[in-house]
Amino acid sequence: MSSENTRFFNPERETMSQDELQNWQNSHVKEVLRYVVDRNDYMRKYYEDAGVSVDDFCGLDDMEKLPTISKTTFRNTFPMGLSCVDRSQLREMHMSSGSTGMPIVMPYTLADLHQWAECMARCYRMAGGQPGDTVQITPSFGLFNGGFGMYHGARAAELFVIPTSSGNTERQIRLVNHFQTKIFCAVISYCIRVIEVMNSLGLTMPSLKTGIFGAESVTDAMKKKIHEALGIEVFNIYGMTETGGVGTLGMDCADHSGIHVWEDQYYLEVIDPVTGKNVPDGTLGELVVTSLTREAVPVIRFRTGDLTRILTREKCACGRTHLKIDAISGRTDDMLIIKGVNFFPTQVEEALLEIPGVLPQYQIIIEEHAGVKEIYIHVEAEEGVTGFMVEKHLKERLGFSPKGDIFKPGTLPRSEGKAVRVIKRSV
Ligand code: ADP
Ligand code: ZN
Repeated sequence: MSSENTRFFNPERETMSQDELQNWQNSHVKEVLRYVVDRNDYMRKYYEDAGVSVDDFCGLDDMEKLPTISKTTFRNTFPMGLSCVDRSQLREMHMSSGSTGMPIVMPYTLADLHQWAECMARCYRMAGGQPGDTVQITPSFGLFNGGFGMYHGARAAELFVIPTSSGNTERQIRLVNHFQTKIFCAVISYCIRVIEVMNSLGLTMPSLKTGIFGAESVTDAMKKKIHEALGIEVFNIYGMTETGGVGTLGMDCADHSGIHVWEDQYYLEVIDPVTGKNVPDGTLGELVVTSLTREAVPVIRFRTGDLTRILTREKCACGRTHLKIDAISGRTDDMLIIKGVNFFPTQVEEALLEIPGVLPQYQIIIEEHAGVKEIYIHVEAEEGVTGFMVEKHLKERLGFSPKGDIFKPGTLPRSEGKAVRVIKRSV
């Protein structure tokens, strides 16, 4: 196998010039709009009501004329009212974890499963995964797309799969050592749990070289903690049920200068979440995604609710040409406003982990009483860290004074899926 083939899964596609990508996207958006309108009654009416005529749609320059869709569009058509194919064409389905309400269903044709596997396989190669390397897949195998997506991709990338799924943390660690796992895939907060159990058992996992983490925000502070504990290179993988699952959108490369998004598969826009207008590259806003190659449920201008910015469209040091976006800083509905100060849970995480002795297990409790919000930070820490130290540091870094409550290591609730970081209560 040539060295080119081992760095890329699909070298031709991953290194297409930006001009080629634009032409490709331009013809694909036109095709996908016609395809959806021809095959899905709900969407045909949706565009009719918005006054959109497929015949007048000229491609990328006209994108802003199309109405966006959102999780609500999926919910209004639950379970599979957005499907563009006959039921006999379906081979698999997944469902979102429902972090923000009623779950979203995504059905797949065989071609969709291949598309997913290809995106995921590109991510494995980008993280250095070579045929024969051992990958341990700890996200759950089930309705959640994490486990199966990583599995389909690993098959395509010819990896040796240890399909542990979630839970049984002690066994996860023993399996890493028995099978010399090189690549460890997880929801990032679960990796923190694995590190705790490893330390409490007095074990190490020297075979691990690479961690692929996603499903929730991957902050630099958390990456650093994991790197220090396991000595592995940490990659931030991105995808969601609506785009077809984990890895469909992309991941950061070894240059760690942003998440490459597979532009031959998805067209990206960033909009101002309030006005809905597109913002220039570099500006933080809500990511809007159009899938260019999916069959069962292609999405056109799907408002992800995730906040990021387009960092660059320049060719990367890794050789890839696909644009890079910033790590997701949060969801539009994650933003907290306390006493006039706006912030995201990820900012609290970054600030907390700067305090020596603070451990990466925390919860933000927001109590609302007669319209007044009080915020409490529950955080695990080693002896010597006080609530006052937490309050003072957050005041300096974020400009608000929460009440800091210190918990002994191992006492805050743990989760095997996405961590629950924010708890809202009315008192
Ligand atoms: P949900 O959590 O909305 O029920 P999914 O299980 O499909 O649905 O998860 C997709 C969502 O998870 C994304 O829209 C995003 O908010 C979050 N997510 C996934 N990967 C990442 C990542 N690498 N960084 C930050 N957030 C992520
Ligand atoms: Zn790169």
